[in-house]
Amino acid sequence: PRLLDDEEGGVVFLSSSLSSASSIGYGYASIEKQRQRLPVYKYRTAILYLVETHATTIIVGETGSGKTTQIPQYLKEAGWADGGRVIACTQPRRLAVQAVASRVAEEMGVKVGEEVGYTIRFEDFTNKVRHLSSYLSIFGVIIFVMHAGISSLAVQDLTAIKFLTDGVLLREMMDDPLLTKYSVIMVDEAHERSISTDILLGLLKKIQRCRSDLRLIISSATIEAKSMSAFFHARKGRRGLEGVELVPRLEPAILSVEGRGFNVQIHYVEEPVSDYVQAAVSTVLLIHDKEPPGDILVFLTGQDDIDATIQLLTEEARTSKKNSSGLIILPLYSGLSRAEQEQVFSPTPRGKRKVVISTNIAETSLTLEGIVYVVDSGFSKQRFYNPISDIENLVVAPISKASARQRAGRAGRVRPGKCYRLYTEEYFVKEIPAEGIPEMQRSNLVSCVIQLKALGIDNILGFDWPASPPPEAMIRALEVLYSLGVLDDDAKLTSPTGFQVAEIPLSIWVSGRGAQKELDEAKLRFAAAEGDHVTFLNIYKGFLQSCKSSHWCHKNFINYHAMVVRKAVTAGFFANACYSEAYSQSGMYKTVRGSQEVYIHPSSVLFRVNPKWVIYHSLVSTDRQYMRNVISIDPSWLLEVAPHFYQQHRLNPIH
Ligand code: ADP
Ligand code: MG
Repeated sequence: PRLLDDEEGGVVFLSSSLSSASSIGYGYASIEKQRQRLPVYKYRTAILYLVETHATTIIVGETGSGKTTQIPQYLKEAGWADGGRVIACTQPRRLAVQAVASRVAEEMGVKVGEEVGYTIRFEDFTNKVRHLSSYLSIFGVIIFVMHAGISSLAVQDLTAIKFLTDGVLLREMMDDPLLTKYSVIMVDEAHERSISTDILLGLLKKIQRCRSDLRLIISSATIEAKSMSAFFHARKGRRGLEGVELVPRLEPAILSVEGRGFNVQIHYVEEPVSDYVQAAVSTVLLIHDKEPPGDILVFLTGQDDIDATIQLLTEEARTSKKNSSGLIILPLYSGLSRAEQEQVFSPTPRGKRKVVISTNIAETSLTLEGIVYVVDSGFSKQRFYNPISDIENLVVAPISKASARQRAGRAGRVRPGKCYRLYTEEYFVKEIPAEGIPEMQRSNLVSCVIQLKALGIDNILGFDWPASPPPEAMIRALEVLYSLGVLDDDAKLTSPTGFQVAEIPLSIWVSGRGAQKELDEAKLRFAAAEGDHVTFLNIYKGFLQSCKSSHWCHKNFINYHAMVVRKAVTAGFFANACYSEAYSQSGMYKTVRGSQEVYIHPSSVLFRVNPKWVIYHSLVSTDRQYMRNVISIDPSWLLEVAPHFYQQHRLNPIH
């Protein structure tokens, strides 16, 4: 039978069986009781025993079983944080770091920054002292010195459990290559295989050789436990002593935590949908109209389509003939304010239904209570790199089967649930890959190479990777760094400013929901004729005049944490120069390097202005290749700042 008809939205689902799930009431148990009910609790003793006796323990357990929030607490209770040592738990995503730290602090009855702390880029909430620091800017140096001064006055390592992004832990290795203050490092969400996670795994394996007291936990919802174990076990030039029991044992232990997920019915669309935003909106409204209580989680790809969906859903809910009162519609993506995050995690009021529209952060990194329905677009934003054209794209691409199963699993946390896939069953079975590709194998490796070089790893090609990157991408990265003057003839780092070159794109505007007009007005207040980078400078000047007020940032829709100096950007990005064809009305540009067709992104203040020569900060690929954060330039500057680069890649027709 059909579950939903297509009277309005045009979305038709096939359904194998239909039973309307009865709702189970669940009241609020004390935090201690809640902790004991989690699946990992039964494994507490086993986990502590394995960590005690093995250098590496691999823990696999479904999302929500309690790996991230509980295991660090068990370790602390067992004494791993005694004597000023710290237990670290890494996450690939900043938002997850903040959310998990505040949950664990709440469970332990402490404030974030005391026994439980977190560090992400620009934010350090450990040892009670709050630092807002920037290591990337000139001002950062001053702040950094102050920061060091304050730290030395602070109570010594009050923080026993520290959550941090894997990128931040990599950066900590610059000061402390053996990460000596940590007793246990838990690399969480290892299945994501982000570049930073992979570099970290490679380096931690090296550290283990020097520190027999260090324990590693590799944890994840789905992981190739065997291959991960093989990676940690294979040690070049080192043999176990026959017949001698070493403590800790070098062979990793593997523990699998039995979940208690409920059954999830899967529904597919009958015909492929052409617009997943529209399809998601129709599906949410139909679920709300026809299905018993329970929250809805929608998986989309990024802030753009999430905001579009929220807008459309809000409109359609208002005008719909169907029952659409009582919907609480919330976004979930990186860059939300603390208050917006809290709304997502707070319990749904009685008689209401929460709809959380999320990126794939809710796939495994965060647990939302009360989700009974999942709507899966089948897509996520993924990075792809072509070493031949040297273009890295963030594209909306199909997810893997493993991801689709994880997404569906989110519906079965509290009772049997339903998952609506906005793609056909045939597509799922035949078209999409079983597993995703590690980020390392589909990225530009420039910043990865700089990081390793800065850590003194000179033989990059011989580095022990969990997944080897393609040699073309490595060579390309070395070539770019050489032409930038960051590497010398011996492929050694020339400059301590390497990290400035590897500057990571930041989104400085806070997009307020339903406040697009105000946001546009705020942009206009700062817009500069020369382009986005100068606009950033205007903003920065305003920020200084406001005495770095966070209130000022809030008022102007500016992300307070992104307020770093951007003057150096231009010099670092000369390789991204583009020119527009003579008198082209189409807004089309060509890259100097590869003669690729590119366009200015509509979010840029230079959209429609179309200066002749521009430099972009990054490329995004949707229906076309879009340049984000664009600055207009004089082409003669290119020869000035990078003569060796532009001799090789001769400047194309200058009209
Ligand atoms: P895992 O890491 O295995 O996916 P977590 O440790 O993140 O699981 O979550 C365990 C449980 O803790 C969840 O099932 C949920 O009940 C609770 N929990 C986690 N984070 C929060 C939060 N921010 N607010 C409320 N409950 C939470
Ligand atoms: Mg987790």
